[in-house]
Amino acid sequence: MDTPLSFESWQGDEEEHSVTWSQRIILECRCGEGVILLGLEADWRTEKRDAFECECGETLSIASNRVDETAFSVKQLLRRGHEATFGA
Ligand SMILES: [Zn+2]
Repeated sequence: MDTPLSFESWQGDEEEHSVTWSQRIILECRCGEGVILLGLEADWRTEKRDAFECECGETLSIASNRVDETAFSVKQLLRRGHEATFGA
């Protein structure tokens, strides 16, 4: 009996590339809104951009308004919870 040739074996060693391009920076405003910057902080520094306007008109900067993404998400969830409570 002939052994069938496998044409699929070459596909076996695809490498998983660790993706870092999805990194982002979150700036939180006093009004509770957030501005999300896509990319690395170093990239924004290179662009000499460190002033971002919130929807309320407040100027945010990476240096003073940056927040941890996890913390911000939790705040947003809490905030939505409040809104739901008030709307009931
Ligand atoms: Zn704001």
